[in-house]
Amino acid sequence: MLNATLVALDLETTGLDADKDTVLEIGAVRFRGPRIEAEFHTLVHPQRPIPSFVTKLTGITQAMVAQAPTLDEVLDDLAEFVGDAPVVGHNLGFDLSFLRPHDLLRDNPVIDTYELASVLLPTAERYNLGYLGRLLGVPLSTTHRALDDARVTQAVFLRLYERLLALPASLIAEIVRLAWPLNWSATWVFQEALEEVQRRGIVSEPPREEGTSAVLLDLPYRLPEAAPSLPEGEPALDPEEVAALLEPGGSLARRFPDYEYRSQQVEMTRAVARALGEGRHLMVEAGTGTGKSLAYLVPAALFALRHNTRVVIATHTKNLQDQLLQKDIPAVRQALDLEEGQLRAVVLKGRSNYLCPRRLAFMRREGPRDLNELRVLAKVLVWLHQGGSGVRDELTLRGQAEEAVWSLLNAEDEGCSAAVCRDRMGGACPLHQARTAAEAAHLVVVNHALLLADVLVGQRVLPEYRYLIVGEAHHLE
Ligand code: SF4
Repeated sequence: MLNATLVALDLETTGLDADKDTVLEIGAVRFRGPRIEAEFHTLVHPQRPIPSFVTKLTGITQAMVAQAPTLDEVLDDLAEFVGDAPVVGHNLGFDLSFLRPHDLLRDNPVIDTYELASVLLPTAERYNLGYLGRLLGVPLSTTHRALDDARVTQAVFLRLYERLLALPASLIAEIVRLAWPLNWSATWVFQEALEEVQRRGIVSEPPREEGTSAVLLDLPYRLPEAAPSLPEGEPALDPEEVAALLEPGGSLARRFPDYEYRSQQVEMTRAVARALGEGRHLMVEAGTGTGKSLAYLVPAALFALRHNTRVVIATHTKNLQDQLLQKDIPAVRQALDLEEGQLRAVVLKGRSNYLCPRRLAFMRREGPRDLNELRVLAKVLVWLHQGGSGVRDELTLRGQAEEAVWSLLNAEDEGCSAAVCRDRMGGACPLHQARTAAEAAHLVVVNHALLLADVLVGQRVLPEYRYLIVGEAHHLE
């Protein structure tokens, strides 16, 4: 448990601009670990009309503050309540911007739960206080009232601190080291956690080698199995045999009780099977509800398996990619009685979607230059420790500033060379892994942009392929 008294603070204000707006309500909770020592609450007379949107958001009306003290009249009480304790808040910079011009809380250590959460929960969908409270199982709700929200902040902080203590001491120490030259609103708590972990002798794992891709080297790296070999005398794809899988009483109908037979879908399946088998082009226009993806996936999967080859499937939208990988391809596997390793399917993305271990090692070695670099770097290190794959989609980045840092860490590196990095990174490069997996896959799902980029650079982006299905082809350009 954190061996210090802290104060969780929240303000309600008449607006977002500290130069023009003012404080309407103050809530604070003084606590030591889970024990609440005291609470502070006051409404504040804003000496101006309360905007209607603020009343709508908070429920605080002009009548409620009519007898309240002014801000000047409550500042001494608040200063006394907080003392020199570290102050915890969510987006604390906002609250402090209203108080520091009054010479309040200028020297207290600050802990921003937004910063903490964005590092310790690198894949959380959102970082607003209400969402974090629900995510972390806090039995209190945010209400946009200062004391309620200060209580939620305290509870969220304690749960985040537990997560921090669960990290290896070496990782906490590295983040403290990286943060040292910068004025980061989470440094204090990382330092406290490091001391606590060392005091209690919690050693999660041996110290990592500093300044290398040691974290990435811990990623489970599995070489894809070789593609299955073509059995002797395997017959070419029979369109009727493929279509039968989708017919009433076929494999799909038997396995999925809500499977719906659609004659146009079966017709399309036959046509795709015929085109693949005869090695000719096919263009299909089919309306919504035809079930186009299954209609091409079933023959494509069978064709790739029987001919020991790969079929590239290009989509326009990420939604369709997700649908293929998460729903349709698993359904095809089931219908064909195959395991995941027997019918292998991967998504291959553009280079900017993969973390580059070499660039990560460089930033760890050189240190972040500003708070955005620090936050994203710390977030990435925690993400990898938690089993992150190095694929951008998993990581939550907020705003252009964090995206800009990602662009320094992704695989869009001019010096990128799988041959050089294979030795240096021990095979732990996510881009290299994705490409290796794609080379052994039967179905390689890409988006239109990557497909066209491959054409543009002379087929050096995708593994070699002879069979291509372009979905949502009316968007191809
Ligand atoms: S192969 Fe490219 S992306 Fe991978 S570590 Fe090397 S430079 Fe980075």
